[in-house]
Amino acid sequence: MKSTGIVRGIDNLGRIVLPKELRTSMKLETDSKLEIFVEGDQIILKKYRAAGSCDFCGEVDPNAVQFAGYCICSECRKKIGAL
Ligand SMILES: [Zn+2]
Repeated sequence: MKSTGIVRGIDNLGRIVLPKELRTSMKLETDSKLEIFVEGDQIILKKYRAAGSCDFCGEVDPNAVQFAGYCICSECRKKIGAL
């Protein structure tokens, strides 16, 4: 796990702010969802994606396939195939 060197406090409502640079580099936009995991004494935030959602566009597609560790929907497969 890579340290960002960023230390942030928790406010009186339990909130923390993710720095803009981190949100930008992680492609987190307003209303993006994060899933919270706990492992020992660590709190881990991961971008939330519904099961079966495409790694490229985020759409949920029952015909999505797994390839090289990525979930790819039908539309993105077509776009990738056209490259
Ligand atoms: Zn897609």
